[in-house]
Amino acid sequence: MKLLVTFSRKKGSKPIIAQVVRDTGVLINVERAIIDSSEGEALIDVPDDQCQLVRNTMISLGANVQTLEHGISVNESECVDCGACISICPREVFSLDSHWKLQLAEEKCVICGKCIEACPQQALTLPI
Ligand code: SF4
Ligand code: SF4
Repeated sequence: MKLLVTFSRKKGSKPIIAQVVRDTGVLINVERAIIDSSEGEALIDVPDDQCQLVRNTMISLGANVQTLEHGISVNESECVDCGACISICPREVFSLDSHWKLQLAEEKCVICGKCIEACPQQALTLPI
């Protein structure tokens, strides 16, 4: 399960992801992170059966946590299978099948948003 975590990095605050790994023993896969001196945002992947534990621990440490049930989604009535989204995606989420029809492996999506602007049909939507 993917969780989008946002947190403050005020002076004196501890590294939240490292602290959650230590406190829960859950191995957290950080798929994307943007962190500056004052705040951070991280997309993490955790095992489904430990998602609630990680979520609750992060919230107790002051983070905001959003559970993401899905990655990118495509409006099939708008998509024209042009393939413009394929090369821009850093995670190889998109491909064309043998009938030149767009296929998604949305579980690979890290919600970076790069494909949204590349689509001439505005056929792509993020869950956030
Ligand atoms: S949001 Fe980023 S990772 Fe997800 S499909 Fe689009 S380009 Fe790929
Ligand atoms: S860029 Fe848009 S229209 Fe083209 S294949 Fe991707 S989703 Fe479909």
